[in-house]
Amino acid sequence: MSAAFGYEAKITKGALPATFEAMLEKANAETKVIFEDTDFYLIEDRELATSRFQMFVQHSQQVPVAQTAIRIWSDKKTKELILAELHLSEETKKVEKLLANKYKSAKFSKGALKSKQLSQAISKLISAEIARHDTDNRVISMKFRDQWEKGDLVRRVEVRGRRGVHHISVSLLKNRITEKSYMEFPQSEQFHTVKANVYPIYEEVETTGEKLPFEVRDLKFISTNLHDGGVTPLAEFESIKFSENKYHPILAETEVGKSHDFWSEATLRIRVEKSVAKFPLKANDFTNGMLLQGKYATVNIHPGAREFTGVNFPLKPSVNHMINWTKVGEEYEAKPTSGIYGKLITSEESLLNLLPERLPDHDPVSYINSGFDEVQVYYGVTVLMDALGDMGFEDAELSTKPFHAFLYDPDISMKDNAYYYDNTINFTTYNPGTPNLARDNPTVWHELGHGVMDRLMGPHLGFADSKGGYGGLSEGMADFLAKIIVEHQTSGADFPGKNDFRIMNNTGFYLTNEFHDEGEAYGGAMNDMLTGVISKEGREGLFDFTDLTLEAMRLTRNHPALSPKSWYEHMLYADALGSEVRGPNQFKDMIEKALVKRNFSFDPAFKPATMKVTFENGELTNSSDASRDKPLIECGLDGYVAHDLKVELSSGDSDFITFPATVKVEYKKGAIQGAIRWAGEEANPTVYTINSAADILNVPLKASMDCETVNQPDGSCKDYAYLQVFNAGETKPAAKKRFYLKLNKKECKP
Ligand SMILES: [Zn+2]
Repeated sequence: MSAAFGYEAKITKGALPATFEAMLEKANAETKVIFEDTDFYLIEDRELATSRFQMFVQHSQQVPVAQTAIRIWSDKKTKELILAELHLSEETKKVEKLLANKYKSAKFSKGALKSKQLSQAISKLISAEIARHDTDNRVISMKFRDQWEKGDLVRRVEVRGRRGVHHISVSLLKNRITEKSYMEFPQSEQFHTVKANVYPIYEEVETTGEKLPFEVRDLKFISTNLHDGGVTPLAEFESIKFSENKYHPILAETEVGKSHDFWSEATLRIRVEKSVAKFPLKANDFTNGMLLQGKYATVNIHPGAREFTGVNFPLKPSVNHMINWTKVGEEYEAKPTSGIYGKLITSEESLLNLLPERLPDHDPVSYINSGFDEVQVYYGVTVLMDALGDMGFEDAELSTKPFHAFLYDPDISMKDNAYYYDNTINFTTYNPGTPNLARDNPTVWHELGHGVMDRLMGPHLGFADSKGGYGGLSEGMADFLAKIIVEHQTSGADFPGKNDFRIMNNTGFYLTNEFHDEGEAYGGAMNDMLTGVISKEGREGLFDFTDLTLEAMRLTRNHPALSPKSWYEHMLYADALGSEVRGPNQFKDMIEKALVKRNFSFDPAFKPATMKVTFENGELTNSSDASRDKPLIECGLDGYVAHDLKVELSSGDSDFITFPATVKVEYKKGAIQGAIRWAGEEANPTVYTINSAADILNVPLKASMDCETVNQPDGSCKDYAYLQVFNAGETKPAAKKRFYLKLNKKECKP
């Protein structure tokens, strides 16, 4: 037994007579301390169903010694010992004379200990201590008991507060507080559910502009209480410097890193959360005005939105932060920055009267004043977390903390966008012709997909296909997690635009030159598997395959260089393990078949199909000239830029590309396309045919230096020609590569 209590002993059946004296004798023999029967109080002596139970507690000068006891269980008939356990304080017994002197010189006596005067003096001390508590400083009731603790006469006071219990120990000999702790009452979390109009999928179909109806749905898990951070909730962090040269996600987690003030988004977030937890709670209800802050989502307006004029409610800083980087001198510094609380909701009726309006110009101020986008985003986030929880996302902390949404990032260069960063999903402003992404659940679910990956696959996950830790797998998985939620919500029912999702594609592995397109192969393969599983097992299959996906995500947590191969290997491993809901190898065949159909195999001898694009500067790859991050910046001749591209194809071992293949050059309809004026774009797309692997296709490209629209902050237009390879009879390409230009006439010499 451990020595935590001083002397401990356990005596089993029949080893000693079942008497108090026998126990004392044993204790005295083993401790060499002379315990006497007068050192103990008999506290309990009762018959239990199966034994007689006795309990004695050690005391000194009539004051019990903390955590001491002799407990004896004996046979009711034979009196034989069943069990005895001894927890005694040798220390107290050894220094008994000293304690007696202390006790006397402090003028304590049995009567004095119960005196009103002492009681009042202590209660004053305790009340002052409680008053200093951050969140629970009202005394509802107070009770105490006195006992010896490690040679000190201690009054242990238990104070009931409004939200929990304070335990405070006061040394009566030293007349000061020696220990304190606080525990909140265990409580089941309380949430509001209110009804509101929302879009179950989205407001409009991106490809056709078709508008879909909204419906009344529940907004679940709205917090009943919120931490009230006042007017400067993050003031504590004003004076703390989070500089780039102290940023290190790994070192920030180590003792040595901490001692040198290294930090990461994760460590900064924990500091903010701790700080916010100290703020007092305030009821979040219709009386005070309800905010959409809940278990899974907090909705905030982007701090940059203060630049808008015409918002008709006060912009109060929220306790939820985003990280803002600024340049201070020569260095970049991060600052946790408060969002802004949204519009207060005063009744369910007002929510039901709140109808979405699709404004032709997407005016952000009108949208802020309406409050509908807040409702929609709250709904979208909550649905995802609730659904994933349903399907096995039950990991402590990871599955229970809210994501923070920030609406209306006013940055012009971020227009028509939604993005995930460090536990936040962010929405921007929109051009007239594009959908409002805050009203587009699959987009919300895609961004949150990044968030769920971030949480489950870990902050230290690296991708083999990109140095920045951001790969095609990340995009494909985010699409796939969104797809899982779409399936969960619709059970396979059709809706306009369903077939336009990026994940519904034919894209193969090794046949693209940027992560978004590469992600189509990952997402597409996962989607093929899911579709197969659902057609075989129905909704049950959705749950089982999600269980498998979540487990593979756990098993790849913090993988330093995850590749397509290692991701699918981990899927197969998770599949082989089985789970509470899955049999071992339940999906093995399905996974392997789906991969071969995507130009992928685990066999090292496997030759994939290829699409080779070359131009004057060599081969077009995901890091070559004319790739997304290295667009060609040119001035050209006579107001035009021209390039000749050569395209070659091969079928590979799985015959993934078949001849004759169609090559389409798309100028307008790809994501973010349209800024550059290409020659021939009126007849978009330009269509070619390649008849065999020996065929070399020539694609002449010509672009005007006069931008159609400026889409870059520096006044230039950046755009790409999208080369797509189709197998006969197919509507989605098997291979695709993008060729980027960035043009700025003003930067060119006349
Ligand atoms: Zn993404």
